[in-house]
Amino acid sequence: MLFADPIAAGPAAIPQDRRALVSLRDVRKSYGAFEVLKGISLDVGKGEVACIIGPSGSGKSTLIRCINGLSPIQDGSITVDGQEVNDPKLDKLSLRRKVGIVFQQYNLFPHKTVLENVMLAPLKVLREPRAQVEERALSLIAKVRLTGKERAYPGELSGGQQQRVAIARSLAMRPEVMLFDEVTAALDPETVKEVLATIRELAAEGMTCILVTHEMGFAREVAHHVYFTDGGVIVEDGPPDRIFREAQDPRTRQFLSQVL
Ligand code: ADP
Ligand code: MG
Repeated sequence: MLFADPIAAGPAAIPQDRRALVSLRDVRKSYGAFEVLKGISLDVGKGEVACIIGPSGSGKSTLIRCINGLSPIQDGSITVDGQEVNDPKLDKLSLRRKVGIVFQQYNLFPHKTVLENVMLAPLKVLREPRAQVEERALSLIAKVRLTGKERAYPGELSGGQQQRVAIARSLAMRPEVMLFDEVTAALDPETVKEVLATIRELAAEGMTCILVTHEMGFAREVAHHVYFTDGGVIVEDGPPDRIFREAQDPRTRQFLSQVL
């Protein structure tokens, strides 16, 4: 396990303002006749770190994609900051701004430098002034500890470095919540640590995060709340201490016995 003493640090304190920033109610989602999400409800407060764990195929990625409107739902409701994600009248741009998403595959633009990758969306989508965008991009590159790599191309960086560029690129839109879908799954073990460190810092600064991860030590350390999904439902959820030490449901216990 990467973090020898996950309990010692503990997650950052959640701010007093505990209004739910992201709310899901009875969310149902099907691909054709196949129902992937079978009534998912959860609330993530401002500043909260929610970890979603569960076996492959349980619908975790689908859930993440539904939260930022990349994938429509058939029933139920998803709100972000009080706005219904599936409301046809919703301004998609305002939703995409509020909800940053980082995937396993970082998909940086290979022919653009690190700096250009981070600057692109605020320039093209938000149409912010270049000098201001550049200043913020440089500070985000510093934040993910890549100062000195501004002019490098993605192909010249390690997987972990590229993933940190992807995080900086997402942060450049000043999101209110960040979604991370197994962002370390494709990385070499040495670089996993750096990416987790970046996410840990964001969480400690109070960024609301929903993360799907197989890094159980990390989930235990940073999460305020852990959701265990299986077969399109949340089987069990609770504070990490309870889920990791005394899970009640046999499916949770079996999953944890395989991954811990
Ligand atoms: P997880 O991230 O937990 O592994 P996914 O959300 O990726 O789960 O997938 C859940 C189920 O939905 C899987 O059975 C998968 O094959 C299916 N699925 C995912 N995306 C699609 C799609 N675009 N079309 C059809 N089936 C899909
Ligand atoms: Mg997945």
